[in-house]
Amino acid sequence: MARIVMKFGGTSVADVEKIKNVARRVKREVDAGNQVAVVVSAMSGKTNELVGWADTISPLYDAREYDVIVSSGEQVTVGLMAMALQSMDVPARSWLGWQIPIKTDGAHAKARIQSIDTTELDKRLDAGEVVCVAGFQGIAPDNRITTLGRGGSDTSAVALAAALKADRCDIYTDVEGVYTTDPRIVPKARKIEKITYEEMLELASLGAKVLQTRSVEMAMNHRVRVQVRSTFSDAEGTLVVDEDEIVEQEVVSGIAYSRDEAKITLVKVADKPGTAATIFGPLAEANINVDMIVQNISENGNSTDMTFTVPRGEFKRALQVIEGNREKIAYQELLSTSDVTKVSIIGVGMRSHVGVARKMFETLAEKGINIQVISTSEIKVSVLISEEYTELAVRALHTAYGLDAD
Ligand code: ADP
Ligand code: ASP
Ligand code: MG
Repeated sequence: MARIVMKFGGTSVADVEKIKNVARRVKREVDAGNQVAVVVSAMSGKTNELVGWADTISPLYDAREYDVIVSSGEQVTVGLMAMALQSMDVPARSWLGWQIPIKTDGAHAKARIQSIDTTELDKRLDAGEVVCVAGFQGIAPDNRITTLGRGGSDTSAVALAAALKADRCDIYTDVEGVYTTDPRIVPKARKIEKITYEEMLELASLGAKVLQTRSVEMAMNHRVRVQVRSTFSDAEGTLVVDEDEIVEQEVVSGIAYSRDEAKITLVKVADKPGTAATIFGPLAEANINVDMIVQNISENGNSTDMTFTVPRGEFKRALQVIEGNREKIAYQELLSTSDVTKVSIIGVGMRSHVGVARKMFETLAEKGINIQVISTSEIKVSVLISEEYTELAVRALHTAYGLDAD
């Protein structure tokens, strides 16, 4: 007998028929003698709709109310899930974040889980009841509902698996596992049998939304055995594992892209100590995530251009912050665009190979794609390009690194 967490994403619970399908899958595990905790997302499209409503009323909304609104999608699916299981004679009960409770910090709309009290859930699981948990939500220290950031049900599931000391955490989604790149834009993408926590973390944080970044961090820290697999087939999925479980390591194991980028350039700022601090200090205070940064060589030794990227959702606020500090920063001109995509190659094999980045630059050059900003780390290289070339770039790189399926 094993204790497992099964998480179902939005497309897996998109309507009542699909919820019944999921219930049948859960019943199979129960019938096999396992203890099961189910974590569900909202029906696909629902969270976007809720966010849209909030935006329409107030684009600079109060995040506490935003959380009340957007967490509601999961309340519906978790109730339907428990009901569907009950109708198949499987004992089941739904749980909202606050009822468990799943305690988070107070960072509304992107809260982090701090603790999960499993006393009651443990009892129910031991008694053979399926516990159905609403993903994406928790409760802040001041007792208000929080949400964990988009895609956060993955994190709910992994955190629950860690807290319940589950043997497995299975993430059921609409693709058969983690692929070398997004199979929706590269039909030749290959399913990866096993991927390291580290690579999965990079893939996720660089745009592969198949797992939320925070969920991978959590899995890595608590050594949760995560498997990504399909709700709609019985195919083997992808296991996220330690590096020593992987026998043969590719140099580049995956390619990710993110359209959630915007680029800001400050033309002619002083080339002297303290300039970067006057720009990025206020952005940090405003809780804006700055990602890639380049500073040009100054032409005359006096001034330089500073370019950086921020998530699209924080673009308007970033511009407001910069404009609000115009006198202190003393830039001549402010240029900005959201017509950019970040494309990244990832692989732990990069540590021991040279020429990996060069191949990326050459491949893009051959396709006539201009690179606007570059950033690297030990196991990844990212470039910022014009959004219209996203598919072209990802496909060309996928072929260049020998990742195409036969
Ligand atoms: P869910 O609603 O089940 O949480 P998501 O839409 O959040 O599903 O994540 C699954 C999607 O992630 C897939 O449909 C796929 O388009 C996308 N994706 C992006 N990169 C990858 C990748 N490398 N491997 C698998 N899926 C990926
Ligand atoms: N429903 C939430 C979202 O769409 C959480 C999730 O699906 O993981 O972001
Ligand atoms: Mg998701």
